[in-house]
Amino acid sequence: MVEKIFSVSKDKNPSEWFTEIIKTAELADVRYGVKGFLVFQPWSVESMEKMYVYLEKNLKARGHKKYWFPTVIPEKNFTLESDHVEGFIPEVFWVTGAGNEKFDEKLALRPTSETAFYSMFSTWIRSYKDLPFKTYQRANVFRYDTKATRPFLRDREFHWIETHCAFATEKDAYDNVIGDMMTTKEVVFDIYGVPTLVFKRPQWDKFPGADNTYGADAITPSGRVVQQPSTHMLGRNFSKPFGVTFTDENEKEQLAYLTCYGPCVSRMFASVVLTHGDDKGLKFPFEIAPLQVIIVPILADKEPKVLKAAEKIKAKLEAENISVEIDNSDKRPGEKYYYWEMKGVPLRIEVGPRDIAKDKALLFRRDTEKKKEVSIKTIVKEVITNGEDLSKNLKKIAETNFKGIIKDCKSIAEVKKIVGKGIARVSFCSCNLDGEKCATKIEKETGGEIRGTRIDVNEKASGKCIVCGKEAKEIIYVAKSY
Ligand SMILES: [Zn+2]
Repeated sequence: MVEKIFSVSKDKNPSEWFTEIIKTAELADVRYGVKGFLVFQPWSVESMEKMYVYLEKNLKARGHKKYWFPTVIPEKNFTLESDHVEGFIPEVFWVTGAGNEKFDEKLALRPTSETAFYSMFSTWIRSYKDLPFKTYQRANVFRYDTKATRPFLRDREFHWIETHCAFATEKDAYDNVIGDMMTTKEVVFDIYGVPTLVFKRPQWDKFPGADNTYGADAITPSGRVVQQPSTHMLGRNFSKPFGVTFTDENEKEQLAYLTCYGPCVSRMFASVVLTHGDDKGLKFPFEIAPLQVIIVPILADKEPKVLKAAEKIKAKLEAENISVEIDNSDKRPGEKYYYWEMKGVPLRIEVGPRDIAKDKALLFRRDTEKKKEVSIKTIVKEVITNGEDLSKNLKKIAETNFKGIIKDCKSIAEVKKIVGKGIARVSFCSCNLDGEKCATKIEKETGGEIRGTRIDVNEKASGKCIVCGKEAKEIIYVAKSY
């Protein structure tokens, strides 16, 4: 009979399940030998490439232009904005020399690229006619994270997109922040099928150098959250030290307003895995599956016609840009099914001698685990329709799973019971700096983190802060994160 793939059930121990699936499905190899640095393998890379395509398409439609910036940032630029330096210095890898030479000025391996982009913005932006100035780049960045590293979720080198934009007015900048969050929704939920909540982060938890940080959290079925893209309202904090100025319509010199946004594709991939997977293995939405269709020819060794039919189907699907392979290995059909289900291939086509005699094939869906007979003539249409339907279904399942995961809590003790299994919603005094003490108390006693106040829904606070008893000004959410 069927052997067990994982030593634990995903529902019981999602963390352990995640560690095992990375190895079993060959998503990444952790044996490179440098802590926090990961070798990404084809099965995750193919999917992440597709994830990038959707993000970039969305950003381009919003007017962002693509750049490739250097990986290194000179120390004098890196240290220009004081909050930014203070926040990032503990995490920076430095290049101090080359060959036998020691550099006069060391170079930072970018942990993020504000200080790279804005040094050039000051050269490029002259007049209000140059604004808005919207850029992005696809890059790997380096952070010496001192917490425990975790493949895909917390690596010291990770893969992301970062956007950097300049605006003439604060309103334009804020509209762009909203646009960034729409991008998150349109890509992370609509395409990747991962449900998210969108927060304004508390003042003590904002990006170093920002006025405000807005971020999404993915909700995984276990009740833990995975941080998704953040967007930062930088105000004029960076434009001042970097001299990002423009002359306005009245020929007056003005400081530009800056924003940045950082969707981390390697971490989003982790939420796709954690959201959709089950005890049989991975599941991918059709659009971002590393491989969309696997064809298993039955009795092909005895009937050469079968392989021919399989190849014909493959060619038809490839002509429609659908990624497809034929598994013609020596394994038994059952073993093949089992393997490709573990790998999360959305659709499987089985063709045998009896099927092709009737011009038929069997189509199996990974989400419903149901098989149906389809005509080879209309197989392209069947694959497209079922692929779309599978993606919709995965989204629906993900949304259903997270219903009931948010619980109202009236005390720290109640919060403690919820975090780790769900998300606690509580009345809180303030997300300005004066509330930090209360926040620290909640975090210390419950092991959860304050995620912030929701901005995707309108919520009015009432009652008292569950910690200090003062009048509550906010409703905040507390959760454990991966
Ligand atoms: Zn309080």
